[in-house]
Amino acid sequence: MTSRRFVTQAILFTGLTFIYTYASAQWFAYQQTIMGTSTTVELFADTPEQADNCSRQVFREMRRIDTLMSPYKEQSELAMINRDAGDHAVKISRELFELIKQSVKFSQLSKGAFDITFASVGYLYNYRMKQHPADQQIKQQLSAINYKNIMLDDKQTSISFGHKNTRIDLGGIAKGYAVDNGIHILKDCGIHNALVSAGGDSRILGDKNGRPWVMGVRHPRDKSKVVVSLPLSNEAISTSGDYERYFIEDGTRYHHIIKPDTGRSADQTWSVSVMAKEAVTSDALSTTLFVLGTEKALTLINSLDGIEAIIIDARGKMFYSNGLMPPTLH
Ligand code: ADP
Ligand code: MG
Repeated sequence: MTSRRFVTQAILFTGLTFIYTYASAQWFAYQQTIMGTSTTVELFADTPEQADNCSRQVFREMRRIDTLMSPYKEQSELAMINRDAGDHAVKISRELFELIKQSVKFSQLSKGAFDITFASVGYLYNYRMKQHPADQQIKQQLSAINYKNIMLDDKQTSISFGHKNTRIDLGGIAKGYAVDNGIHILKDCGIHNALVSAGGDSRILGDKNGRPWVMGVRHPRDKSKVVVSLPLSNEAISTSGDYERYFIEDGTRYHHIIKPDTGRSADQTWSVSVMAKEAVTSDALSTTLFVLGTEKALTLINSLDGIEAIIIDARGKMFYSNGLMPPTLH
C-alpha cells in the first residue's frame, strides 16, 4: 500500500530504481482480441523465444476461460448452466463452481450490488444493436435477479437456480480472473516483470523493470484526456465505466453495468477504478462500486484493507478512498 499512499514519492523513486534495471532484459508487447476485448501482455524477457512462448501461454489461457465462461458460446459451461439450472441441478467444473462462489461472496459483501444474476434482465440488452428491454419485460424478469436464487452444492459441485428464469453472467469478474491466471503463468514461465490486461482489467507483476508502471485513468467523457496517473507495481487495477459499451436513446444512457434492484443501467457514476492485489478483486469491486454510487462505495472500500478506489460521479466530481493521496491532476 505504501507505494500508493505516497504517489509523489513513488515518482521520485523512479530515477533511483532505474539504475537497477537488468541490462539483458528486453521489453516485449503482444496484443490479441479475446473475450470480445483487447488483451495485452507486456513483459521483460531475456530472449524473444521466452517472450513469445510465455505470452502465447497467457493468450491460450484467456481463450480457454472464454470458452468456458462465455454466455454467447452455446457450448460453454456457462451457457449450459443458463439453459438447465432453472430446471434442475447441473454438475459443473470445480473451476467455474469456485468463481461463482466467489461472485456470491461479492454479492454478500455489497448487499447485492454485485450480482451475477443481473443477467436475468441483462441478456435483454444489446448495446451494439441499441436494444433495451421494455418496462414490462423488466418487470416480468426482475424477481429472477437475486444472488440468493443461486444454489450451490459444494460436494457435488453442482448449481441450481431457485427461480426458473434466472441467468448468470460472469462479465463483471471473469476478465480479472483471466488476468490473474495470466500473471501466474508468467511467473511460472520465469518472468519477473510484466503487465497483463484484458479490457479494463490489468495486473502488474513486479514493475516496469525498475520503474513503476504508470497507469492512467481516462476522463469518462473525453477519450483524449487522462485525469489521473498512478504509478503501480505488483498489483491490479480495474476500471468500470459507462462509456465502453453504451448507447443513448431519448437522453437516457443505456450501458452494461446494471443495478440488480431495478434491472436498469446504474446512473450515479461515470467511472470507478479499483486497485487491489488481485485482478479478480479489483474487477468485481469496480463493478460493485459503480453500482453502489459514491457514498456507499466509499464506505465499503474504506472498510476493506489493502484496496483503494477512485470514483468519478455522474457530475464529474472525483473521490478518493482514504488510502490514496490526491494525485496531481492533468
Ligand atoms: P468491463 O466488462 O467493461 O471491463 P466491468 O468490469 O465493469 O466492465 O464489468 C461490466 C460487466 O459486468 C458487464 O458487461 C456485465 O457482464 C457484468 N455486470 C453488469 N452489471 C453487473 C452487476 N450488477 N453485478 C455483476 N456483474 C455485472
Ligand atoms: Mg469489473
